[in-house]
Amino acid sequence: MTIDLRKDFVDYAKSLDKASEDPNIKKALTRAVSSYRSTVAETLERFPHTAELAEEVRELKSQSIANLDKLLEQAMASVERNKGKAFYAKDHESALEIALGIIGTNKTVVKGKSMLGEELLLREYLEEHGNEVWETDLGEFILQLRKDRPMHIVSPSIHVPREQVAEVFSKFFGKEVPPDIAEEVKVVREFMREKYFTAEIGISGANVVAADTGAMVIIENEGNVRLSTGAPPVHIVIVGIEKIVPTFQEAMKVAEVTWRYAQYGIPGYVNIISGPSKTGDIEKVTTYGAHGPKEFYVIFVDNGRSEMAKQETFSEALHCLRCGGCMYECPVFQVTAGHFGHIYMGGIGTIWTAFVAGGMEKAAPMAYSCLRCGRCVERCPMSINVPAMVGELRKRSIYGE
Ligand code: SF4
Repeated sequence: MTIDLRKDFVDYAKSLDKASEDPNIKKALTRAVSSYRSTVAETLERFPHTAELAEEVRELKSQSIANLDKLLEQAMASVERNKGKAFYAKDHESALEIALGIIGTNKTVVKGKSMLGEELLLREYLEEHGNEVWETDLGEFILQLRKDRPMHIVSPSIHVPREQVAEVFSKFFGKEVPPDIAEEVKVVREFMREKYFTAEIGISGANVVAADTGAMVIIENEGNVRLSTGAPPVHIVIVGIEKIVPTFQEAMKVAEVTWRYAQYGIPGYVNIISGPSKTGDIEKVTTYGAHGPKEFYVIFVDNGRSEMAKQETFSEALHCLRCGGCMYECPVFQVTAGHFGHIYMGGIGTIWTAFVAGGMEKAAPMAYSCLRCGRCVERCPMSINVPAMVGELRKRSIYGE
């Protein structure tokens, strides 16, 4: 069966056209690409074992995806053993329903950056159900105020220069905020501090999950994840099932490769969270709910991932670490930013969009804007063959499966 792609194509083409003429995108991306290239080159030179470690991680991701069912079961059991509560969400709707079931309504929620959150439109859904939700990552907060969407998976507001940030903040805070980055960071810090300590719920994603221990590894620089996951009485993790690897040691290897290709020698913080806070200080009796959250929930989200894992041509996309490196090398992304995307961006985002975030209607126009030049494969620590997958998607968009 073939599908009618016309409407989506026209909307998408208009958005690409507009983006390619936007001087802010051009300015921001030119700066970002040059900074990424020089920093990542310097970082890989400082830590020369990274390339070999990436090869090891490639193999372990491949094994993990082949054993996804078993690892999921083990990870869920580990979370429960740690006195957390684990859920499996088969699809988009059930993930949202589970989250809402835990949160309820009229709550204040502080949330860390999560591409899965974008995939599920989680913030919007919780707001529609009467909650006040704050994006605590600075870039995501800027987008929340602008009613905009991420333009890069690691640096979501990459397309917004400081002058525009100052305008948005001045309007929101009701006072003149100068186009000075340090001042812009300061006003958000002051505003958000009160939210962390009054919120009933903290939500985060996770970069990797270790099945043996139930440890969630969360990489960050701002410290917002520490506060969002440590201050409120309830912490909810939403994570895609492809993020699970067998052991804690392996999880740390995945984390190291991820942050290195995201251009960090070492990130500001690496959070390892495995359950609610606890203490054994009085008579060695373990008591849950010490200074951190009293309740800990993990929602493991499938939403098309196990289908992707079953298909030989596409399962490799699940190896993606979301380091964002490929986007800086992509000639189309360099001109259009995340407009070459629908939720997920760039060549790899085309595959993710097809399976988990919009289907072929949204992915097909992206497949035809990808040049299949292969520059992303050279940059990718997992050497994911995006051009081959995009070629297959193009065929399917015309001839069906
Ligand atoms: S496809 Fe590769 S380079 Fe791109 S985000 Fe994923 S792991 Fe990083």
